Amino acid sequence: MEPLDRSTIWPYQDAEPGEFFYQRYGSPTVAAAEAALGELEGGHALLFPSGAGATTALVLALLEAGQTIAVASDAYYGTIGTLETLGRWGLEHVLFDQTGPPPDGVDLVLVESPSNPLLTLPDLEAAVAQPAPVVVDATASTPVYLKPLELGADYSLHSATKFLGGHHDVLLGAIVCRREHDAERLRALRGRLGIVAAPDPAWLLLRSLKTLHIRMAHHTATATELARRLESHDAVERVRYPGFGGLMSFDVGGGAEAARAVETGVRLIENATSLGGTRTTLETRSRWEPERVPPGLVRLSVGLEDVDELWDDLARVLP
Ligand code: PLP
Repeated sequence: MEPLDRSTIWPYQDAEPGEFFYQRYGSPTVAAAEAALGELEGGHALLFPSGAGATTALVLALLEAGQTIAVASDAYYGTIGTLETLGRWGLEHVLFDQTGPPPDGVDLVLVESPSNPLLTLPDLEAAVAQPAPVVVDATASTPVYLKPLELGADYSLHSATKFLGGHHDVLLGAIVCRREHDAERLRALRGRLGIVAAPDPAWLLLRSLKTLHIRMAHHTATATELARRLESHDAVERVRYPGFGGLMSFDVGGGAEAARAVETGVRLIENATSLGGTRTTLETRSRWEPERVPPGLVRLSVGLEDVDELWDDLARVLP
Protein backbone atom coordinates (compact mmCIF):
# COMPACT_ATOMS: atom_id res chain seq x y z
CA MET A 1 0.00 0.00 0.00
CA GLU A 2 0.96 3.60 -0.46
CA PRO A 3 2.22 5.07 2.82
CA LEU A 4 -0.16 6.96 5.10
CA ASP A 5 1.51 10.29 5.90
CA ARG A 6 -0.33 12.15 8.66
CA SER A 7 2.16 15.01 8.92
CA THR A 8 0.70 18.48 8.99
CA ILE A 9 4.02 20.11 8.07
CA TRP A 10 7.03 19.22 5.91
CA PRO A 11 10.39 20.98 6.21
CA TYR A 12 11.25 23.75 3.78
CA GLN A 13 14.00 22.92 1.36
CA ASP A 14 16.74 25.57 1.21
CA ALA A 15 14.37 27.88 3.10
CA GLU A 16 11.64 27.47 0.42
CA PRO A 17 8.30 25.63 0.74
CA GLY A 18 8.35 22.44 -1.36
CA GLU A 19 5.39 20.61 -2.98
CA PHE A 20 4.05 19.83 0.51
CA PHE A 21 4.59 22.23 3.42
CA TYR A 22 1.25 22.56 5.30
CA GLN A 23 -1.50 19.95 5.14
CA ARG A 24 -4.38 22.33 4.36
CA TYR A 25 -2.72 23.21 1.03
CA GLY A 26 -1.91 19.62 0.07
CA SER A 27 -0.53 16.36 1.46
CA PRO A 28 1.07 13.27 -0.13
CA THR A 29 -1.60 10.69 0.76
CA VAL A 30 -4.45 12.93 -0.38
CA ALA A 31 -2.51 13.73 -3.57
CA ALA A 32 -1.97 10.00 -4.24
CA ALA A 33 -5.68 9.24 -3.85
CA GLU A 34 -6.55 12.22 -6.07
CA ALA A 35 -4.16 10.97 -8.75
CA ALA A 36 -5.73 7.49 -8.65
CA LEU A 37 -9.29 8.82 -8.91
CA GLY A 38 -8.32 11.37 -11.57
CA GLU A 39 -6.83 8.61 -13.69
CA LEU A 40 -10.01 6.51 -13.39
CA GLU A 41 -12.21 9.41 -14.47
CA GLY A 42 -9.93 11.06 -17.02
CA GLY A 43 -9.68 14.39 -15.17
CA HIS A 44 -8.18 16.28 -12.24
CA ALA A 45 -9.59 15.06 -8.91
CA LEU A 46 -9.81 16.93 -5.61
CA LEU A 47 -10.91 15.41 -2.30
CA PHE A 48 -13.15 17.03 0.32
CA PRO A 49 -14.26 15.92 3.79
CA SER A 50 -17.66 14.73 2.48
CA GLY A 51 -19.86 14.80 -0.62
CA ALA A 52 -21.76 17.75 0.86
CA GLY A 53 -18.43 19.52 1.48
CA ALA A 54 -17.48 18.92 -2.17
CA THR A 55 -20.79 20.43 -3.36
CA THR A 56 -20.31 23.45 -1.09
CA ALA A 57 -16.75 24.06 -2.27
CA LEU A 58 -17.70 23.76 -5.95
CA VAL A 59 -20.61 26.17 -5.66
CA LEU A 60 -18.52 28.69 -3.70
CA ALA A 61 -15.74 28.43 -6.28
CA LEU A 62 -17.96 28.84 -9.34
CA LEU A 63 -20.84 31.09 -8.34
CA GLU A 64 -21.40 34.50 -6.81
CA ALA A 65 -24.30 35.97 -4.84
CA GLY A 66 -27.24 36.51 -7.18
CA GLN A 67 -26.26 33.69 -9.57
CA THR A 68 -28.46 30.64 -10.13
CA ILE A 69 -27.83 26.91 -10.11
CA ALA A 70 -30.34 24.60 -11.81
CA VAL A 71 -30.51 21.32 -9.91
CA ALA A 72 -32.32 18.08 -10.74
CA SER A 73 -35.56 18.08 -8.72
CA ASP A 74 -34.95 14.49 -7.60
CA ALA A 75 -31.26 14.96 -6.76
CA TYR A 76 -30.19 13.69 -3.32
CA TYR A 77 -32.35 15.68 -0.90
CA GLY A 78 -29.27 16.71 1.10
CA THR A 79 -27.77 18.40 -1.98
CA ILE A 80 -30.91 20.50 -2.35
CA GLY A 81 -30.65 21.23 1.40
CA THR A 82 -27.05 22.43 0.93
CA LEU A 83 -28.17 24.80 -1.82
CA GLU A 84 -31.11 26.03 0.26
CA THR A 85 -28.69 26.79 3.10
CA LEU A 86 -26.38 28.73 0.77
CA GLY A 87 -29.41 30.85 -0.17
CA ARG A 88 -28.60 32.93 2.92
CA TRP A 89 -25.49 34.11 1.09
CA GLY A 90 -27.41 35.02 -2.07
CA LEU A 91 -27.23 31.78 -4.09
CA GLU A 92 -30.39 31.14 -6.12
CA HIS A 93 -31.45 27.65 -7.15
CA VAL A 94 -34.18 26.31 -9.42
CA LEU A 95 -35.35 22.70 -9.60
CA PHE A 96 -35.92 21.01 -12.98
CA ASP A 97 -36.85 17.61 -14.39
CA GLN A 98 -33.44 16.18 -15.36
CA THR A 99 -34.92 13.79 -17.93
CA GLY A 100 -35.38 16.91 -20.11
CA PRO A 101 -33.27 20.01 -20.84
CA PRO A 102 -32.23 22.43 -18.04
CA PRO A 103 -33.92 25.85 -17.87
CA ASP A 104 -32.38 28.73 -19.85
CA GLY A 105 -30.34 31.52 -18.32
CA VAL A 106 -28.77 29.67 -15.38
CA ASP A 107 -25.11 29.85 -14.32
CA LEU A 108 -24.50 26.20 -13.37
CA VAL A 109 -26.38 22.92 -13.92
CA LEU A 110 -26.26 19.99 -11.50
CA VAL A 111 -27.68 16.59 -12.50
CA GLU A 112 -27.44 13.22 -10.74
CA SER A 113 -26.93 9.95 -12.56
CA PRO A 114 -28.81 7.96 -11.40
CA SER A 115 -30.74 10.02 -8.85
CA ASN A 116 -31.05 8.91 -5.25
CA PRO A 117 -33.54 7.33 -4.49
CA LEU A 118 -35.81 7.65 -7.58
CA LEU A 119 -33.14 6.36 -9.98
CA THR A 120 -33.90 8.67 -12.91
CA LEU A 121 -31.16 9.27 -15.48
CA PRO A 122 -30.41 12.78 -16.74
CA ASP A 123 -30.59 13.85 -20.38
CA LEU A 124 -26.86 14.54 -20.46
CA GLU A 125 -26.86 15.48 -24.13
CA ALA A 126 -29.36 18.26 -23.45
CA ALA A 127 -27.46 19.36 -20.34
CA VAL A 128 -24.12 19.76 -22.08
CA ALA A 129 -25.72 21.44 -25.12
CA GLN A 130 -26.61 24.55 -23.09
CA PRO A 131 -23.95 27.17 -22.26
CA ALA A 132 -23.63 26.91 -18.44
CA PRO A 133 -21.05 24.52 -16.92
CA VAL A 134 -22.43 21.09 -16.02
CA VAL A 135 -21.78 19.05 -12.87
CA VAL A 136 -22.79 15.38 -12.81
CA ASP A 137 -23.18 13.70 -9.44
CA ALA A 138 -22.05 10.19 -10.41
CA THR A 139 -22.03 8.80 -6.86
CA ALA A 140 -24.22 5.78 -7.63
CA SER A 141 -22.63 5.07 -11.04
CA THR A 142 -18.95 5.45 -10.11
CA PRO A 143 -16.44 5.78 -12.99
CA VAL A 144 -16.98 2.07 -13.67
CA TYR A 145 -20.33 2.88 -15.30
CA LEU A 146 -20.15 6.59 -16.06
CA LYS A 147 -17.37 9.00 -16.99
CA PRO A 148 -19.21 12.32 -17.22
CA LEU A 149 -16.17 14.27 -18.42
CA GLU A 150 -15.92 12.07 -21.52
CA LEU A 151 -19.55 12.95 -22.29
CA GLY A 152 -18.93 16.69 -22.20
CA ALA A 153 -19.60 17.53 -18.53
CA ASP A 154 -17.25 19.98 -16.84
CA TYR A 155 -17.20 18.38 -13.38
CA SER A 156 -18.12 15.09 -11.83
CA LEU A 157 -19.09 14.97 -8.19
CA HIS A 158 -18.97 12.02 -5.80
CA SER A 159 -19.96 11.18 -2.32
CA ALA A 160 -16.94 8.87 -1.98
CA THR A 161 -18.62 7.79 1.26
CA LYS A 162 -20.66 5.42 -0.94
CA PHE A 163 -19.34 2.95 -3.55
CA LEU A 164 -15.92 4.57 -4.03
CA GLY A 165 -15.14 4.13 -0.32
CA GLY A 166 -17.23 0.99 -0.42
CA HIS A 167 -16.99 -0.32 3.17
CA HIS A 168 -19.08 2.12 5.26
CA ASP A 169 -15.91 3.29 7.00
CA VAL A 170 -15.00 6.54 5.27
CA LEU A 171 -16.72 9.92 4.90
CA LEU A 172 -15.29 11.66 1.84
CA GLY A 173 -16.24 13.71 -1.22
CA ALA A 174 -14.63 14.33 -4.59
CA ILE A 175 -14.85 16.71 -7.52
CA VAL A 176 -13.16 15.73 -10.77
CA CYS A 177 -12.52 18.63 -13.14
CA ARG A 178 -12.14 18.35 -16.91
CA ARG A 179 -9.77 21.32 -17.09
CA GLU A 180 -6.62 21.75 -15.04
CA HIS A 181 -7.17 25.48 -14.46
CA ASP A 182 -10.60 24.75 -12.91
CA ALA A 183 -8.91 22.27 -10.57
CA GLU A 184 -6.31 24.91 -9.62
CA ARG A 185 -9.05 27.44 -8.84
CA LEU A 186 -10.86 24.92 -6.69
CA ARG A 187 -7.64 23.87 -4.97
CA ALA A 188 -6.85 27.50 -4.08
CA LEU A 189 -10.34 28.02 -2.63
CA ARG A 190 -10.13 24.72 -0.75
CA GLY A 191 -6.85 25.75 0.86
CA ARG A 192 -8.21 29.14 1.91
CA LEU A 193 -11.53 27.85 3.26
CA GLY A 194 -10.06 24.68 4.78
CA ILE A 195 -12.68 22.33 3.26
CA VAL A 196 -10.00 19.71 2.64
CA ALA A 197 -9.85 15.92 3.07
CA ALA A 198 -7.61 14.43 5.76
CA PRO A 199 -4.97 11.75 5.00
CA ASP A 200 -6.73 8.84 6.77
CA PRO A 201 -9.92 8.82 4.67
CA ALA A 202 -7.83 9.45 1.54
CA TRP A 203 -5.75 6.36 2.37
CA LEU A 204 -8.94 4.32 2.83
CA LEU A 205 -10.09 5.51 -0.59
CA LEU A 206 -6.79 4.38 -2.11
CA ARG A 207 -7.37 0.94 -0.56
CA SER A 208 -10.94 0.83 -1.90
CA LEU A 209 -10.18 1.89 -5.47
CA LYS A 210 -8.08 -1.26 -5.89
CA THR A 211 -11.26 -3.37 -5.69
CA LEU A 212 -13.74 -0.91 -7.23
CA HIS A 213 -14.25 -2.76 -10.54
CA ILE A 214 -14.66 -6.16 -8.86
CA ARG A 215 -17.05 -4.77 -6.26
CA MET A 216 -19.17 -2.90 -8.80
CA ALA A 217 -19.46 -5.98 -11.03
CA HIS A 218 -20.63 -8.02 -8.04
CA HIS A 219 -23.07 -5.29 -6.88
CA THR A 220 -24.53 -5.17 -10.41
CA ALA A 221 -24.92 -8.95 -10.80
CA THR A 222 -26.68 -9.32 -7.45
CA ALA A 223 -28.82 -6.18 -7.82
CA THR A 224 -29.94 -7.21 -11.32
CA GLU A 225 -31.14 -10.55 -10.01
CA LEU A 226 -32.84 -9.04 -6.94
CA ALA A 227 -34.59 -6.44 -9.14
CA ARG A 228 -35.86 -9.26 -11.36
CA ARG A 229 -37.21 -11.24 -8.40
CA LEU A 230 -38.74 -8.13 -6.77
CA GLU A 231 -40.49 -7.23 -10.03
CA SER A 232 -42.28 -10.56 -10.12
CA HIS A 233 -43.29 -10.45 -6.43
CA ASP A 234 -47.00 -9.74 -5.81
CA ALA A 235 -46.36 -7.40 -2.86
CA VAL A 236 -44.06 -5.11 -4.87
CA GLU A 237 -45.78 -2.38 -6.90
CA ARG A 238 -42.77 -0.88 -8.60
CA VAL A 239 -39.01 -1.45 -8.88
CA ARG A 240 -36.58 1.30 -9.90
CA TYR A 241 -33.22 -0.02 -11.07
CA PRO A 242 -31.20 1.39 -13.99
CA GLY A 243 -29.55 -1.98 -14.84
CA PHE A 244 -26.14 -1.26 -13.29
CA GLY A 245 -24.69 -0.55 -9.85
CA GLY A 246 -25.94 -1.50 -6.41
CA LEU A 247 -28.62 1.14 -5.74
CA MET A 248 -32.33 0.51 -6.31
CA SER A 249 -35.68 1.35 -4.76
CA PHE A 250 -39.00 -0.47 -4.71
CA ASP A 251 -42.52 0.36 -3.54
CA VAL A 252 -44.25 -2.09 -1.23
CA GLY A 253 -48.02 -2.35 -1.61
CA GLY A 254 -49.60 -1.43 1.72
CA GLY A 255 -47.65 1.81 2.07
CA ALA A 256 -45.82 2.99 5.17
CA GLU A 257 -46.93 0.16 7.46
CA ALA A 258 -45.85 -2.60 5.07
CA ALA A 259 -42.56 -0.83 4.37
CA ARG A 260 -41.90 -0.50 8.10
CA ALA A 261 -42.50 -4.24 8.50
CA VAL A 262 -39.76 -4.80 5.89
CA GLU A 263 -37.41 -2.50 7.83
CA THR A 264 -37.99 -4.16 11.17
CA GLY A 265 -38.10 -7.72 9.81
CA VAL A 266 -34.85 -8.06 7.86
CA ARG A 267 -31.99 -9.90 9.56
CA LEU A 268 -29.11 -10.34 7.10
CA ILE A 269 -29.85 -6.95 5.55
CA GLU A 270 -29.06 -4.01 7.83
CA ASN A 271 -31.79 -1.43 8.42
CA ALA A 272 -29.58 1.63 8.08
CA THR A 273 -29.13 4.70 5.94
CA SER A 274 -26.47 5.33 3.27
CA LEU A 275 -25.43 3.09 0.42
CA GLY A 276 -22.47 1.59 -1.36
CA GLY A 277 -20.97 -0.69 1.30
CA THR A 278 -20.11 -4.38 1.27
CA ARG A 279 -23.10 -4.99 3.55
CA THR A 280 -26.62 -4.67 2.12
CA THR A 281 -28.66 -1.86 3.70
CA LEU A 282 -32.25 -0.74 3.30
CA GLU A 283 -34.53 1.95 4.67
CA THR A 284 -37.84 3.63 3.89
CA ARG A 285 -37.04 7.08 2.57
CA SER A 286 -40.29 8.76 3.63
CA ARG A 287 -38.72 9.34 7.08
CA TRP A 288 -36.32 11.81 5.43
CA GLU A 289 -38.17 13.14 2.39
CA PRO A 290 -41.92 12.45 2.87
CA GLU A 291 -43.01 15.13 0.40
CA ARG A 292 -40.99 13.58 -2.46
CA VAL A 293 -41.29 9.81 -2.21
CA PRO A 294 -44.18 7.35 -1.84
CA PRO A 295 -44.71 6.13 1.76
CA GLY A 296 -44.02 2.53 0.71
CA LEU A 297 -40.70 3.30 -1.00
CA VAL A 298 -37.81 1.21 0.29
CA ARG A 299 -34.30 2.13 -0.82
CA LEU A 300 -32.02 -0.87 -1.13
CA SER A 301 -28.24 -0.73 -1.43
CA VAL A 302 -27.13 -4.15 -2.54
CA GLY A 303 -23.88 -5.31 -0.96
CA LEU A 304 -21.62 -8.26 -1.65
CA GLU A 305 -23.48 -11.06 0.14
CA ASP A 306 -24.85 -14.17 -1.53
CA VAL A 307 -27.85 -13.35 -3.74
CA ASP A 308 -30.02 -16.25 -2.53
CA GLU A 309 -29.43 -15.41 1.12
CA LEU A 310 -30.40 -11.78 0.41
CA TRP A 311 -33.53 -12.89 -1.43
CA ASP A 312 -34.53 -15.26 1.40
CA ASP A 313 -34.27 -12.31 3.82
CA LEU A 314 -36.40 -10.06 1.59
CA ALA A 315 -38.99 -12.66 0.58
CA ARG A 316 -39.53 -13.57 4.24
CA VAL A 317 -40.50 -9.98 5.19
CA LEU A 318 -42.48 -8.94 2.09
CA PRO A 319 -46.24 -9.07 2.80
N1 PLP B 1 -24.65 12.87 -3.53
C1 PLP B 1 -25.40 11.77 -3.41
C2 PLP B 1 -26.01 11.15 -4.64
C3 PLP B 1 -25.59 11.17 -2.16
O1 PLP B 1 -26.33 10.05 -2.06
C4 PLP B 1 -25.01 11.79 -1.01
C5 PLP B 1 -25.22 11.21 0.34
O2 PLP B 1 -26.06 10.37 0.55
C6 PLP B 1 -24.26 12.95 -1.18
C7 PLP B 1 -24.09 13.46 -2.44
C8 PLP B 1 -23.64 13.65 0.01
O3 PLP B 1 -22.51 12.93 0.39
P1 PLP B 1 -21.93 12.86 1.90
O4 PLP B 1 -22.94 12.15 2.73
O5 PLP B 1 -20.63 12.14 1.72
O6 PLP B 1 -21.75 14.28 2.34
